[in-house]
Amino acid sequence: MAKLTPMMQQYFKIKEKYQDAILFFRLGDFYEMFFDDALTASKALEITLTARSCGREEKAPMCGVPYHSANSYIVRLIEQGYKVAICEQTQDPSEAKGIVERDVVRVITPGTIIDEKEIDGKSNNFLLAVVESMEQIGLSYTDITTGELYSTAISIDSISDFYDEVAKIGAKEIIINADTSLELADLEKRLKMPVSKYKEWCDHGEYSETLIKRQFEISSIGSFGLRSETTELKAVGMLLDFLNETQKHLIGHLSTVKRYTLNQYMLLDANTRRNLELVETIITHKKKGSLFGVLDLTKTAMGGRLLKKWIQEPLIDKSRIKERLDLVEIFYEDIMLQDDMNDHLKSIYDIERLIAKISYGNCNGRDLNALKSSLAPLPELCNYLKSRDEEAISHIGNKLDDLSDIYEIIDKSITDDPPITIKEGGVIKGSYDSDLAELKDIMEHGKEWLATIEQRERDRTGIKKLKIGYNKVFGYYLEATKSQIQYIPDDYIRKQTLSNAERYITPELKEMEAKILGAEEKILKLEYKLFQKVRASIASELIRIQETAKVIAKLDAINSLGRVAYRNGYVKPTINEDGLLNIVDGRHPVVETMLGNDPFVSNDVKLNVDDNQIAIITGPNMAGKSTYMRQVAVMTLLAQIGSFVPAQSADICIVDRIFTRIGASDDLSQGQSTFMVEMMEVANILHNCTDKSLLILDEIGRGTSTYDGLSIAWAVIEYISEQTKAKTLFATHYHELTELEEVMSGVKNYNITVADHGEGLIFLRKIERGEANKSYGIEVAKLAGVPSPVITKANDILLKLEASDVNQTAVKYSYEKEVPKVAEQLDLFTIPESPYSDIIEDLKTFDLLNATPLDAMNYLYSLKKKL
Ligand code: ATP
Repeated sequence: MAKLTPMMQQYFKIKEKYQDAILFFRLGDFYEMFFDDALTASKALEITLTARSCGREEKAPMCGVPYHSANSYIVRLIEQGYKVAICEQTQDPSEAKGIVERDVVRVITPGTIIDEKEIDGKSNNFLLAVVESMEQIGLSYTDITTGELYSTAISIDSISDFYDEVAKIGAKEIIINADTSLELADLEKRLKMPVSKYKEWCDHGEYSETLIKRQFEISSIGSFGLRSETTELKAVGMLLDFLNETQKHLIGHLSTVKRYTLNQYMLLDANTRRNLELVETIITHKKKGSLFGVLDLTKTAMGGRLLKKWIQEPLIDKSRIKERLDLVEIFYEDIMLQDDMNDHLKSIYDIERLIAKISYGNCNGRDLNALKSSLAPLPELCNYLKSRDEEAISHIGNKLDDLSDIYEIIDKSITDDPPITIKEGGVIKGSYDSDLAELKDIMEHGKEWLATIEQRERDRTGIKKLKIGYNKVFGYYLEATKSQIQYIPDDYIRKQTLSNAERYITPELKEMEAKILGAEEKILKLEYKLFQKVRASIASELIRIQETAKVIAKLDAINSLGRVAYRNGYVKPTINEDGLLNIVDGRHPVVETMLGNDPFVSNDVKLNVDDNQIAIITGPNMAGKSTYMRQVAVMTLLAQIGSFVPAQSADICIVDRIFTRIGASDDLSQGQSTFMVEMMEVANILHNCTDKSLLILDEIGRGTSTYDGLSIAWAVIEYISEQTKAKTLFATHYHELTELEEVMSGVKNYNITVADHGEGLIFLRKIERGEANKSYGIEVAKLAGVPSPVITKANDILLKLEASDVNQTAVKYSYEKEVPKVAEQLDLFTIPESPYSDIIEDLKTFDLLNATPLDAMNYLYSLKKKL
């Protein structure tokens, strides 16, 4: 077989090490892809597939993208699940003896994108490393665009907590140790995203320690509270190893490991996060319509990210909640303070991401100027905060580092309008360095000299349009149009002929050129060197800059909460640990902003741990049951993130978990039906809730037959009341369940009111004690536009069914422990007696007196089946 060209040999040598990535091979101003990579990328990016000779008979398939616009192409490939390895020239071409040396300088994966244009400012781009050994799962995740790095560990016995935590983190990429005992396919199913196996890592405790010490320049892992040989330590180690492998250099801006434990925050499972639409809506996955959408009036991306984090991690420590609430109150009460803060914050860019970029070595002059503009308002902000009477605020002002020295460095060094590039000059001010000033002087005068020569030669030759130009091949030249060439003097040396012009050089021009170009070249080199120095000196202040960024983010998030509370008429909740939830005139913070001109009807809630533990909520379809229950959950969560709540008054107890079981969703990809999913959620709730939890159960048992569903719903309420004692809001259309109030002291009935004047329903949306008598499902179907023959027939059937309410009878009897009048119930189905004598015999022998309610229900259900 013919030998490959040297360049292709180099290509294959490099490609061999990056089989799982698409190799972007730098050739001039392009990144080229070859062979299979070219076939894949040309399709994925919809770019033209060409071919290039490679030394063999058959040409190599090839496609390419310009290097200056490569980012958008890379992101498109990443979004489609590919990794991209960037291969650059690693040698100055002028120094190359043969082919220029090349190597991969970075591998880009979903969790290691650093182009901030491609990432939502108010979202994190987390990369998550999971190390699982037999007893424990260690998690560590980082956002390399901001420099945050977290770690925690979860016992393998609480595997569902692990899944919930991963859902909370919302990482863009997950890697797991190759020697895990977890099945990758199962993991991916549960996490609903791809997970890649990394290296075998269980035995790498010591190596992890080395990596951690090197990364954070510490002598002992104890500085972060990490312990040897733990999965948490190994997860941090594996994360760092992955970064080293992909980024090819130490990422300096990861400056600390923030450890946490799950019990520091309210636990929210993935369903609950979704159902409560905390940071995005269920259906459209948009921020608008979510709780974050309402609460976010932050002015900076950092503030936005922090607020989002708070929403996802409600506190459970009373003093921390109170501390946040007290701060929010200061802003809530002073609209001038809110406006002043907005004025101070509005010109601050994403300092966290800027310093990450600077430290990463990936910034240009414009990034430094963006940092400078962000630092400009800080001294004034500091003084403003210090001058405030409120101690909590002046304290922040005293602590805030205004970073004026960093501002000075950038202001002195970087030009006001630097280009995007950093190697082509125009970045550093001449005044910053005396050598640079001298060279710039030559350059400037050079232009004057050229202008003088140009004018003099025009006068000498009489060619008015004679002009001096420059190109890379011939350097400076004199150009005259063809019609003028008879006036060209003898001492001009012709260099180039164009269709309409001739170009000449003169010895004088060449002399000038040497001086100017020499200076220009020197300037480019010197500017680049100075730029790197400036960049490094700012990067060395990383921790100070990150600290300031954190304070700004906090001020911004608190101001946002205060402003929203003021604008939307929220109230400061009191926080208790006595299990009492007492909200007067509460509202749903999101629904109330969506109703347009219709007013939102406020409602109370009172739950406690004894006589008001479970509220059974009945009411017509569309009455507002789901909204009501969600608003109670959301208000509890709001209070625990330190926010005011939409109510007239609110006394809120700290809950350890909120569980929601809402709506019907199937998960066909996991081979589970709607009802199976529903029951799995119920099982999870019953296993994990405690007497400190808040449960929102919306129509449990709806996805199966009436008898099965009712029986399950019944038994669930009984279990919660007797076993778990969790505070519960339980909405149902099984009116039979309202009987439970009579037999369970913690159960209370509520209903959401409607007015029925016979000509259609009016939804009053007010909750009151007692049960509803009807579901008005057919009325709502009519409102929804179901064809009138269907409505008429449905009403007909309903009348017949209501004439003999078998469920009602069964439930009642089971508690009164009387033998039900089965014959009456059978009448419901209008069944002649004679063919069913065996069943009737059977009925006579069934001992309902001693049967549990569930057995009774099941028995009746089995009868129905027989019939
Ligand atoms: P279903 O039993 O059919 O599921 P539901 O009783 O759970 O109905 P919701 O879905 O809570 O009813 O509410 C229906 C609509 O009524 C909401 O989308 C909202 O627009 C409106 N609504 C609910 N509660 C209120 C309220 N308190 N004030 C004003 N409008 C409300």
